[in-house]
Amino acid sequence: MENPLTPEVLADPVALTRALVDIESVSLDEKAIADCVEEVLRRVPHLSTFRHGNTVMARTDLGRSSRVVLAGHLDTVPHNDNFPSTMRGDLMYGCGTSDMKSGVAFALHLAVTLPDPRYDVTYFFYEAEEIESRYNGLTLVAEAHPEWLRADFAVLLEPTYGIVEAGCQGTMRAIVTVPGERAHVARSWRGVNAIHGAGEVLRRLGEYQARRVTIDGCDYREGLNAVRIDGGVAGNVVPDRCEIEINYRYAPDRDPAAAEAHLREVFAGYDLAITDAAAGAAPGLDAPVAQEFLAAVGAAPIGKLGWTDVARFAAMGIPALNFGPGDPNLAHHRDEHVELTKIRDGAATLHRWLTPA
Ligand SMILES: [Zn+2]
Repeated sequence: MENPLTPEVLADPVALTRALVDIESVSLDEKAIADCVEEVLRRVPHLSTFRHGNTVMARTDLGRSSRVVLAGHLDTVPHNDNFPSTMRGDLMYGCGTSDMKSGVAFALHLAVTLPDPRYDVTYFFYEAEEIESRYNGLTLVAEAHPEWLRADFAVLLEPTYGIVEAGCQGTMRAIVTVPGERAHVARSWRGVNAIHGAGEVLRRLGEYQARRVTIDGCDYREGLNAVRIDGGVAGNVVPDRCEIEINYRYAPDRDPAAAEAHLREVFAGYDLAITDAAAGAAPGLDAPVAQEFLAAVGAAPIGKLGWTDVARFAAMGIPALNFGPGDPNLAHHRDEHVELTKIRDGAATLHRWLTPA
């Protein structure tokens, strides 16, 4: 394949977004896009470029007193009749336009066109953000090359519609198991129907009042949801087991242990197994580099609702926030799209922030 990321494309964040969207890169299939990005970065004289799996890292080494990270994931969720991209007026439609190839385009555009940024910059283009964290490119880099992540501040270019979303909520998945006793449906009184028993779990979920929490002026809104239900043995058997998978999004004033304790309280009386957990991140807006970033954006930050890799940096003591052109409400939707003006404005903001005064 000829590399579609030509110098003309790299010079224009809009064209670059479209070119990136049109390179297929569903999670675990990022080799082609990582190859294209790596090839481009290796040609840039002011960058040192490294690769681990399908994650590409490039950085300046100008001896600046602060180092910042700009990071974007290369993967997308599976297509949904929305590949390749299409244009409708000021809108670019397609899988990954919002989440988050328009953000990736910011980083790649700046990496190539900004030889003399006011901070040293580490650019990350990483794999497998949309699936379990053990595949996540930043997880793999943290294990193999932790020094690559060293920085004073990080910007994750996830969709935020051009405003700063600070911190992020934690996420936890759990399985609630409803027990029962198998029997033939002809003698159902001899068994206990686990699917009927699930009704009580669903009632608790339906009546649940999710918290709203304000930290550093940022509002976080929690959510507790059943995301899958599974039970049944055969058409003539009273089922002895029903599993309800729960997803809990929690504000960053709770750590995973507190979140788990809360779930055990909500589902008291049931067997509950945690299957996945990731801590949230406090906003971390008081760091000087974060303040300079906020000044460049010029609008008040809000709390991030989804879990993002901001939390990974926060866990390493690196303040981090989300800033990207896409609309977070459209991520993973079939009609996912991004406004071209948001791409141009956001790229200009980052350029202003990184250009020496
Ligand atoms: Zn994303």
